Amino acid sequence: MKKVVLLGAGYANMTLIKKLPKYIFSQYEFILISDTPLHYFSVLLHDVASGVLKDEATLDLRSILPIEIKLIQDKVLEIKEHEIIAEKDTYEYDVLVVGLGFQSDSFNIPGIKEYSTSIVNYQGALALSEDIFNALKEYKDSKQEGDFNLVVCGAGFTGIEFIGSLSEHLNVICEKIGLKRERVKVICVEAMPNILPMFSEKLAQRAKRYLQNQHVIFELGCKILECQKDGIIVESMGEKRKIDASFIVWTAGVKGNAVIENSPFFTSNRSKVEVNEYLQPINQDNQDQMDDIFVVGDCAAIKDPKTQRFYPPTAQIAIVQAKLLSKLLLQKLQNQPFSQRFSFRSNGTICSIGSKYAIGYVWGIDIEGKFALLLKRLVEGKWKLGLKNL
Ligand code: NAD
Repeated sequence: MKKVVLLGAGYANMTLIKKLPKYIFSQYEFILISDTPLHYFSVLLHDVASGVLKDEATLDLRSILPIEIKLIQDKVLEIKEHEIIAEKDTYEYDVLVVGLGFQSDSFNIPGIKEYSTSIVNYQGALALSEDIFNALKEYKDSKQEGDFNLVVCGAGFTGIEFIGSLSEHLNVICEKIGLKRERVKVICVEAMPNILPMFSEKLAQRAKRYLQNQHVIFELGCKILECQKDGIIVESMGEKRKIDASFIVWTAGVKGNAVIENSPFFTSNRSKVEVNEYLQPINQDNQDQMDDIFVVGDCAAIKDPKTQRFYPPTAQIAIVQAKLLSKLLLQKLQNQPFSQRFSFRSNGTICSIGSKYAIGYVWGIDIEGKFALLLKRLVEGKWKLGLKNL
């Protein structure tokens, strides 16, 4: 029986499993390898990191997967030709789907790995919320003078959604530990002159003002050069200076899973494998060994044929790729030619800023406020419901 191995239980592989016809799971051996027994909603990780959400952002994989799919909890270390090296064991495959998701990119800036924390997976986000709570409690107990500066690096999607969620939830945390809220400063440091460059300037300005009203401080046009134990060194208008920090969160960029760059089998860039319109690796040194491999989601670099630029790594693209892959994989297993190519038209995107406000660009129009937030919650709810009926 041919063995199909799926690596990762994120948006891509869960969509693939959902879209494949059920009979296929008894005709071929399907194995899903994941380092966690959970599927977590990575679009909600900012709420887990702030302490707003916990288990609500996850589903137990075993309870939602079709019974025929063998779930193995193991940490993949390296991918080779027809073989996966993981922490506990090695696994063979006939056909492989790599959907291992993203990780933080420090861009080799000194001190980022040592002194900052990033939001990349459920366990990490949960630990971050606990670390913030403990750091605030320690600050309160030590009766230090001066403010507690919580510095968030990067004003992209992750940074702003996290700040929106955190600045609201800090009221709850501070009350719990008896700390004056005014003593906690949330400072967002960003290299570009504006936040959220994917939205219109008007909307981004409104989001900024909304956060400023929640006492968030923006340090824009500040390129982070180094991260230290007690602050970050930035360059702004040609001058270097230090921004003091009691706690540093790095949300200034992501790349594909490190497994890719740790696998010499692949030719990769920023831990991503370039794929063609059939989601198969291209421009590889080992090109003749790539026929049985598909790469989807954040580990895949795929070009927009119109702009010749790589698409950004989003859950929406991972889902569109996986829907296509449900057809391609079937054709591969049945030795038929591929009949459909990848194409993507964005439905838009919505950025939540706390629990009462959001901005978005949907079906060609700017939206904001409670309506935008409601739309986002509907999309999230639909995804969760869909997985419960796998
Ligand atoms: P990003 O790359 O979108 O944003 C990082 C920000 O950090 C940028 O504004 C960049 O200018 C800034 N930055 C980078 N290096 C810096 C430096 N040295 N000094 C100061 N600033 C610096 O990263 P992200 O927010 O993690 O998002 C990654 C991808 O995931 C994006 O494509 C995003 O759209 C997607 N995403 C989507 C959702 C969602 O749809 N709900 C949520 C989170 C992320």
